Amino acid sequence: METLVVDHPLVAHKLTTLRDVRTDSPTFRRLADELVTLLAYEATRDVRVADVTVQTPVAEAHGVRMARPYPLVVPILRAGLGMLDGMTRLLPTAEVGFLGMIRNESTLQAETYATRLPDDLSGRQCYVVDPMLATGGTLAAAVQFLFDRGADDVTAICLLAAPEGLAHMDEFFAGSGKPIRVVTAALDERLNENGYIVPGLGDAGDRLYGVV
Ligand code: URA
Repeated sequence: METLVVDHPLVAHKLTTLRDVRTDSPTFRRLADELVTLLAYEATRDVRVADVTVQTPVAEAHGVRMARPYPLVVPILRAGLGMLDGMTRLLPTAEVGFLGMIRNESTLQAETYATRLPDDLSGRQCYVVDPMLATGGTLAAAVQFLFDRGADDVTAICLLAAPEGLAHMDEFFAGSGKPIRVVTAALDERLNENGYIVPGLGDAGDRLYGVV
């Protein structure tokens, strides 16, 4: 598995405000949206394109267009929804599939409660978006779900990651032979006893959408 921690002052600036407990939900949503667009720029460095030739007002020019099948963006409900607009702004031709997963707070295991995805993902580049890579249980289950449907190239975009989550992903997919990338704005210190990232930013879903 490949991990990319995006090292950029604008990313660090936006992330710092996201972490701040005084940041209200409207500001948090706006910053998460801006941040994911910056992360998506790095995460899509290997997005597949096809050669094309266009006619400029002056001459022919050789360039590229997004190749088909178009990428699939998969937000993990609920907190991943806060990252969807930022992704589709950069990848407007992408299709969107939904995966509803919730972490059982006593077992810390991921449980799937909703899916809306194409049955066949072969040949599709998939971009999973979930703000917090904490224990890695949810992300590993989500990526496995996509592999089971034929995906062969998965990139996860997370606002924050914990070392425990990255280690779990590494172990879970060791020997799978499939390319997996994790792109994140920061690698934090650790998880606390409740499975929260330290220093983290708290519960991303609650901070985006309130406690419901
Ligand atoms: N999920 C969150 O929203 N925050 C954490 O710190 C860990 C998991």
